[in-house]
Amino acid sequence: MRAAWTILSLLRWTSKYLQEKGLPEPRLDAELLLADALGLKRLDLYLQFDRPLLPEELAEFKQRLRRRARREPLQYIAGHAAFRNLTLAVDRRVLIPRPETEVLVDLVLTWGSGRHGLSVLDIGTGSGAIALALATEGEQVFRRVVATDVSPGALEVAEQNRVAVGARVEFRQGPFFEPVPGERFDVVVSNPPYVGELERPTLDPEVADWEPPEALFSGPDGLEVIRRLVEEAPRHLSPGGLLALEIGAGQGEAVQDLLRATSGFEAVEVKPDLAGRDRVVLAHRGSGSGSRT
Ligand code: SAM
Ligand code: GLN
Repeated sequence: MRAAWTILSLLRWTSKYLQEKGLPEPRLDAELLLADALGLKRLDLYLQFDRPLLPEELAEFKQRLRRRARREPLQYIAGHAAFRNLTLAVDRRVLIPRPETEVLVDLVLTWGSGRHGLSVLDIGTGSGAIALALATEGEQVFRRVVATDVSPGALEVAEQNRVAVGARVEFRQGPFFEPVPGERFDVVVSNPPYVGELERPTLDPEVADWEPPEALFSGPDGLEVIRRLVEEAPRHLSPGGLLALEIGAGQGEAVQDLLRATSGFEAVEVKPDLAGRDRVVLAHRGSGSGSRT
């Protein structure tokens, strides 16, 4: 038998192995996989390069490595993902929360800052990321947070995260606005599925092969769910309320047109993500007295 594996020798071997498997960032993946398997931060590995691995640590690591070699996302393997200040449990029942969606949360918090006692509805909550971030960071702003999903499995994950975070969020199951008949909210926020079926071949295998299809795809052009959200939102927004939607990078024009064609909205804006691509639309419902409602 060869000498015991150390952190350094295992990292070297693993990056080579992942590179041969065609993974785009083999060294980073090796570090993240090993750090999480050992319960360390990635940079702590560098302080312990000569540390030998125990047989059970090695066994655990090998299992995770086999999963990564099949392009399973690191966050599913680790069982958690970072989103704003939160660490959220994730598995294949939910989309892994994205940095772009942190921008959506930021815009809603900015709109709400200085206000109090507001209600917010998060449609398609997945892991609960948006609702839980708003409930915790916007504790002074939001009196009531309701979150929905079509997927009962996603809502189980979201509820597990709610308990872990200790936030107050009411979860309900069903599509679009069905779970909130006749109710109005000051804010309706959603990161809906918006990838077009035709774009499927362009997705990374981590996304296309592992994340829930109902979280990603929305008809041939990706706009099916957004169209219906835009159409129904005015009936569920309070006068002066905010609709905040995450959209695909190429959908800014189309979604603005949809909103402008829907009576009830004014002041439509498209906001970029950190890479400068169209990523969020904000639309305000008129304050109610005029004919536009
Ligand atoms: N909000 C989470 C986030 O940002 O990480 C998850 C977003 S994921 C892109 C979209 C979510 O919407 C999925 O959890 C999916 O199950 C749900 N969904 C899809 N169609 C829906 C619909 N018509 N009504 C409600 N939820 C829907
Ligand atoms: N941002 C995700 C992706 O690029 C898609 C998420 C969504 O459809 N809301 O795959």
